Amino acid sequence: MTTEYQTLLATDQWQQKRQQILKRDDYKCCCCNSTQNLQIHHRQYHFVKASDSKQKPWEYKSRYLITLCVKCHQRGHELFKVPFFNV
Ligand SMILES: [Zn+2]
Ligand SMILES: [Zn+2]
Repeated sequence: MTTEYQTLLATDQWQQKRQQILKRDDYKCCCCNSTQNLQIHHRQYHFVKASDSKQKPWEYKSRYLITLCVKCHQRGHELFKVPFFNV
């Protein structure tokens, strides 16, 4: 599972989406304003019933994505479980 997800994150589609979000958020962590080790966090995950598969990381609307540094990202995942929605 993890490997599959990492493969998805290495795609051009994701790299483009990622750049778009980083730019929107001014290349800063939305939590602590750090500019180091930035990652993109999905606020929710979607399961597409029509195609019986998880939505691709780059198919999410930008409002579901947020820039976080690796520390805030890890802490966020320890504190909160990302909700899963059927779409
Ligand atoms: Zn941070
Ligand atoms: Zn995350």
